[in-house]
Amino acid sequence: MHIISSEASFDAAHFLTNYNGKCKNIHGHRWRVVAEIKGECDNGMLVDFGILKNDIKALCDYFDHTFIVEEGSLKKELFDMLKEEFVLRVVNFRTTAENFSKYFFDELKKKGYDVYSVSVYETPNNKAEYRI
Ligand SMILES: [Zn+2]
Repeated sequence: MHIISSEASFDAAHFLTNYNGKCKNIHGHRWRVVAEIKGECDNGMLVDFGILKNDIKALCDYFDHTFIVEEGSLKKELFDMLKEEFVLRVVNFRTTAENFSKYFFDELKKKGYDVYSVSVYETPNNKAEYRI
């Protein structure tokens, strides 16, 4: 079996709900997303790197320079005010690296990739990885 990987990154703000620590306050990261695709290759190429790179980049671009908000985590009045001024991306999960690694794993699977793993780095030293 071969495994190939490609990556992209995005800058975004978030905060963590139900968390007692400095990450409960709004802050930003350069999130780095590294995807590994597995399989056997017939003709010496598992997946076209260019296509894979573009697909990962498109998923990351959706979040780039946005404020990522867990659904229902802000008071309605505040949410309405923020969305007037800023680009918000509402997700239905707590915005941890662990959940993002599963999110990107699932999104790549939906695009037809045989995903081996997805790692999401919140900082150069801290990552979460999802694989089945
Ligand atoms: Zn954070």
